[in-house]
Amino acid sequence: MPRCRACDAAIAWRQTTSGKRIPLDLETLWVLPGELPDGEKRCVVVTGDGRTVWGAQVSADTPAAVRGQVSHWATCPDASRWRSR
Ligand SMILES: [Zn+2]
Repeated sequence: MPRCRACDAAIAWRQTTSGKRIPLDLETLWVLPGELPDGEKRCVVVTGDGRTVWGAQVSADTPAAVRGQVSHWATCPDASRWRSR
């Protein structure tokens, strides 16, 4: 299992459709793609086939929800060390 070089969290690497490899959190969540109502936090996930999806985080039983994993860059407590690379 690969680990984050900054915070030592377990992560997964995935290649996106644009050919970029990015680190992902192991936790999966569901996102409803599309625009968000005001004040709602936008969530970005990468799906199993490498697509990047933006939308609202929703529960697993929501129709049209897409399952994916969050980029570890968004959740890493030490993300500045990623940016400086
Ligand atoms: Zn980290």
